[in-house]
Amino acid sequence: MNTKKSVVSVVKVGQDVEAAVREAIQMAGGLEDLISSKSRVLIKPNIASRDRSGTGKVTDARVTEAVTKIVQRQKPARIVIGEGSAVGFDFPDLQDTMMALEESGTKAVAEKLGVPVVDLNRDSHREVEVPGALVMKTVKIARTVLESDVIVSVPVMKTHIRSAVTLSLKNMKGVMPGGEKRKSHHLGLELAIADLNSVVKPHFAVVDGLVGMEGLWEYPDDCVRMGVVGASRDPVALDSVFARVMGVEVREVMHLQYCQSRGLGIADPERIDAVGAPVAEIRHPFRRAFEVVKSRYPGLAILGEKACTGCTNEFISTLIYIRLAQQVDRLNGLTVVLGEAPEAFSGEKAVVIGKCARKLEGRFPFVPGCPPRVDEITQKVCEACEIDVQLVFQKREELHRAISGKIMKNSV
Ligand code: SF4
Repeated sequence: MNTKKSVVSVVKVGQDVEAAVREAIQMAGGLEDLISSKSRVLIKPNIASRDRSGTGKVTDARVTEAVTKIVQRQKPARIVIGEGSAVGFDFPDLQDTMMALEESGTKAVAEKLGVPVVDLNRDSHREVEVPGALVMKTVKIARTVLESDVIVSVPVMKTHIRSAVTLSLKNMKGVMPGGEKRKSHHLGLELAIADLNSVVKPHFAVVDGLVGMEGLWEYPDDCVRMGVVGASRDPVALDSVFARVMGVEVREVMHLQYCQSRGLGIADPERIDAVGAPVAEIRHPFRRAFEVVKSRYPGLAILGEKACTGCTNEFISTLIYIRLAQQVDRLNGLTVVLGEAPEAFSGEKAVVIGKCARKLEGRFPFVPGCPPRVDEITQKVCEACEIDVQLVFQKREELHRAISGKIMKNSV
């Protein structure tokens, strides 16, 4: 048995984010022997949606900037910052990854440092075989990723409704086009994460734990200010440590176990050397999504086992607007179906959301689309629950104005 331990660094961040990232990278073994003058390096932040740095929903641009500067010191042949945002971010006339990169401040950072940004959703893609696949025998990967020798995954720390946590391994979903992202949810997200990482495993990972997200990722209620960063050459070990920082045990995160059993890294805490700030000292249990749904929307039932972020994010936005309009009580008795619809479903009051659940179309109010539009979801839910939709839309506008004002003030 291999007794070598994986090293994971955990560093508390003071005023200087770059200094903390540098320290974390050095404590985890540095990049010197990973990146040579011939290396083509991909830096992969998590910018799944159109959100500002500082919200905890996307990787903070200051962390991406620090990582990029440290990589630049190695003078590699090429550096690219690449991301393919979540399902639904492949409609340039509506929303795409570039808009998300811009909103997060990542594009501005890349321009400042003279590094190109690539929309991996709109890149060309090649189908790659997954040896010993668990569920994805082949997977389409962006050409820029396949042409990189060194991949640095830079996730933000969040709990996740489907995969318990989303860190450096799940962050790799962004290298697949929208259709493959959808497929990964249908086949079994956690198994698909292991398959994906067996062909594009990050060589190094740096986690942004400045602000994390718990529960339903509702801003600002679900933000958790942690003020930490971490790094490792073993992304499985890094995710294992930062899952525990969020109060999630390794046994609860199936993709960590699948990745470990495929030999992609070490998830077992006994075989990880966590250096720097003690995990027990910074540990802060994050609330899980369903715990928050139950407490925040007690009368609402959600059937969303196999839904991907495309549907869940849009639906959660609807919930936020309804809560702001103080109409949560009216959701009592409503069941919302998203993702693959159950074979036998016979609710009394229900709204069915998204293409995956269309077999229930005609029996219940249905919102088409993949992903469906948030305004249409809001409209149908309000109709089903006799909520004044204009009031809800008014609250949505107020929220958007407040968020952009507040975050602009704090932006990088
Ligand atoms: S319909 Fe919804 S759950 Fe299905 S793939 Fe599209 S966004 Fe994902």
